[in-house]
Amino acid sequence: MTDVYNFCAGPAMLPAQVMKKAQKELLNWDGLGTSVMEVSHRSSEFKKLAKQADQDLRELMSIPDNYHVLFMHGGGRAQFAAVVNNFLGSNGKALYLTSGQWSQAAAEEAIRLVGPKGVDTIDVTKNEVEPVVKSISIPDFNNMNDEYRYLHFCPNETVDGIEIFDDISSPWPIVADMSSNILSRQIDVSRYAVIYAGAQKNIGPSGLSIVIIRNDMLKLPKLPQASIFNYQMQVESGSMYNTPPTFAWYLAAEVFKWLKQNGGVAQIEENNYKKAELLYDCIDNSNLYVNDVAIENRSWMNVTFKLTKGTLETEFIEQAKNKGLVALKGHRLVGGMRASIYNAMPVKGVQALTKFMVEFEESNTN
Ligand code: PLP
Repeated sequence: MTDVYNFCAGPAMLPAQVMKKAQKELLNWDGLGTSVMEVSHRSSEFKKLAKQADQDLRELMSIPDNYHVLFMHGGGRAQFAAVVNNFLGSNGKALYLTSGQWSQAAAEEAIRLVGPKGVDTIDVTKNEVEPVVKSISIPDFNNMNDEYRYLHFCPNETVDGIEIFDDISSPWPIVADMSSNILSRQIDVSRYAVIYAGAQKNIGPSGLSIVIIRNDMLKLPKLPQASIFNYQMQVESGSMYNTPPTFAWYLAAEVFKWLKQNGGVAQIEENNYKKAELLYDCIDNSNLYVNDVAIENRSWMNVTFKLTKGTLETEFIEQAKNKGLVALKGHRLVGGMRASIYNAMPVKGVQALTKFMVEFEESNTN
């Protein structure tokens, strides 16, 4: 059987080594003779796993001591609401930067919960008409006198293929949705008040969310909310207020170990840069493929492109699939193609894709 490379945006992409280890341990984890799924989350064995996962993530991201790490239920969207409910009590107001589908969805959820008076939005995208290029322009917030509890943004727009690489400076605490680029490159955690991520791109299976939260944010006035989404309660219970998604937590812990064994975030950043460069070079050197994002905002994780001969798209997807290059169809809202090349995608997967793209173009040039 030929190797299959899965370019799906989610859920979920896990390194082959982690999957093989999980398969081996499925019925007998940690020598206990049972699956990790069947072990109590309050057992000493599982608590050891949880502690190790916390330590490993702290080490991988250099998370300062005044931050808590939570392993919660509900993926990315649960955090859209949790952020609002934990920080916008007693007439609080927040600023949302919108740069694509997911930051827009986060802003919409905030407005749904606290009404338009509690949320200001700024569209930070710029669209040049000819040639069509999408880019990001972050305003200077120092000229603004507003009192916001936090500024929310999404550094990597999974659907649109746009990434914000610049560090944002803000007079207000910064909350970032890093669902699709957490652990993909080195960042300075101390610039953020809260980082959250649905686990299913670079960490583990869907349903789990990781929240990295600075101490002082726990003191902000809250709205009435479900206890399982209350950050203070989750901190106090070590993310075990209710039964946590233990199998997803176990896999996340294994992914952290895998990352550490493979050179940590510095090394994965190098790989990710290389993969993105290979793919964008292939697109830019062709007459058949086009990407409409400004070079400085091209995502390293989700590479979007269209075919100049739109009628060839179905054929492109079909032939790619026959070569083991699967799930290249773009998101239903934007069309075209999307190659998601998260941490678990090896460089040789992208090499196989670019080889196919060159051959496909050659065979379709008159
Ligand atoms: N934010 C981003 C950037 C995403 O890519 C996604 C999902 O792909 C979400 C939020 C929503 O995550 P979930 O489907 O886990 O709620």
